[in-house]
Amino acid sequence: MDPHLLPFAERQAPRYTSYPSANHFDASVDAEIYRRWLGAVDDTTNLSLYLHVPYCRQLCWYCGCNTFLTRGGDIGDFVTTLMMEIDLVASALGARTVAEVHWGGGTPNVLSAAEFLRIVHHIDFWFDVRADLRHAVELDPRYVTTELAHAYAAAGVGRVSLGVQDFNAHVQEAMGRVQPFEQVRESVRMLRDAGLETISVDLMYGLPRQTAGDLARSIRLAAELKPSRIALFGYAHVPWFKRRQRLIDAKALPGASERFDQAELARRMLNDLGYLSIGLDHFARSHDPLATAAREGTLRRNFQGYVPAASETVIGFGPSAISHLPGGYAQNISTIGAWRHAVEADTLPVSRGHAVNAEDLRRGSVIQSIMCNFEVDLSAWGGWDMFPEAHAELRPLVEAGLVEIHGDALCIPPAARQFSRLVAMAFDAYDQPSPLAHSRAV
Ligand code: SF4
Repeated sequence: MDPHLLPFAERQAPRYTSYPSANHFDASVDAEIYRRWLGAVDDTTNLSLYLHVPYCRQLCWYCGCNTFLTRGGDIGDFVTTLMMEIDLVASALGARTVAEVHWGGGTPNVLSAAEFLRIVHHIDFWFDVRADLRHAVELDPRYVTTELAHAYAAAGVGRVSLGVQDFNAHVQEAMGRVQPFEQVRESVRMLRDAGLETISVDLMYGLPRQTAGDLARSIRLAAELKPSRIALFGYAHVPWFKRRQRLIDAKALPGASERFDQAELARRMLNDLGYLSIGLDHFARSHDPLATAAREGTLRRNFQGYVPAASETVIGFGPSAISHLPGGYAQNISTIGAWRHAVEADTLPVSRGHAVNAEDLRRGSVIQSIMCNFEVDLSAWGGWDMFPEAHAELRPLVEAGLVEIHGDALCIPPAARQFSRLVAMAFDAYDQPSPLAHSRAV
C-alpha cells in the first residue's frame, strides 16, 4: 500500500447499508408510527421480507450481529412469536405481494425443518408470493443436515449463503469459530444433492493471525466449492460495541496497510478465478443475478449487503430486525424477551427508527450511487451547490487520487474503490469522522 494512503485507510466510516446509518435511529419512531407507515404502503408494491433468527448454537468471537445462545427449548417459543408478529404486521400492511424473502441472523438453521416450513406456510397464508420469488437463507455450515437441505428446496429457496470466513485452523482458533474445510464441503454436497445449486460463501480479511497467504488459501478452497457468489468482508473490530470481540487478541490483528493489501490480493485472485467485482465487497460469476444487476445498473445496497434491484420496501421480523418503508426506517426491539412481550400484547415490537425527509432521500441516493456504481452525477440533485461541505471534505481525497471530480460528476478510480466509504461519508449530514462510532473504512 502506498504509505501516503495510510491515514485514509485508518479512518472510520459507516458501511452505508442505510442512510442515515442505524446508529442515528432514535425512539421518535414507535409502534404507532410504524403502523401508519405499514398502512400507507401502496398495494402495487413488491415487498421484501427479512426474517431475523436471533439464535446461534455457539457465539463466535468476531461476530457483530445481534445474536443469543440458544438453550434448545427456546426456539419453539420464538417460532410462535414470529408467526404472531407476521399476523400483526400483515394485518396492518397495505400491500400483499412478496418478491423476496431473506432469512438472516443469527443462524436460521437453528430452526428445524418442520419449524422452517411452518413459518414459510404462514407467509404463504398471509401474502401473495410471486412465482419468481427470490428466496435466500444464511446458513452455518456446521449445522446443515440432509433434512434441512430438502426442506429449503421444498420451500423454493433459490440461494443459500454459507458463513465460512477463513479455512485456516490457526485463524479459526483465533477468531473463535472452528470448522474444517471438509465439514463445509460436506454441507455443500448435502445442499447440492437436495437441488440447491446457487451457493454463496462469505469470507473475511483482517482476521486475527490471518496473513495474505492464509487468505489466498481460503479463497482457493472456497473456489473449489464452486459458489456462484463470494462476499469478502473486512473484519470490523469494535469491542467497545460488541463485548464478545474482547476475546480476540487485538495485537494479532493485521494493521490498516496489511488489510488494504489483503483486500487487493483477494480482489485480484477472485477476478482471476472468474468472479467479477460487484460493489465494494462482493464477487460473482457472470451469470449470477448480482452480476446482471451490476451490468444493468440496478444494483442496490441494503441491510443484506448488495442485492439485485430489490423492493425498496423491506419488512423486518424478529428481534432487532429493521424495516425500510417509504416513510423511513423502523427497528424492532433487540432483546428477545421484550420483543416477545410486545408481540404478545398485540403491539408492533418497534423501539426506534428514523423518519426520512427530502434531504435524507437526496443524500441517500447520492451515497447509494457511490457505494453501488463508484460514481455519481450530482446534476440530478442540484449540483455541488447543494453539497458545498462535501466538495470541501473531498479535497484531500481528490489530492490523494482517491476520487476524481469532473464538473458535477465524481468517480472513484478502480484502484481506489476500497476508500468508497470515505467518499460517501463526505455526503453524510449525520456522521462526522469519529474514532469509535464505526469500523475501519478499509
Ligand atoms: S458468526 Fe454467525 S454463527 Fe457465529 S455468532 Fe455470529 S451469527 Fe452466530
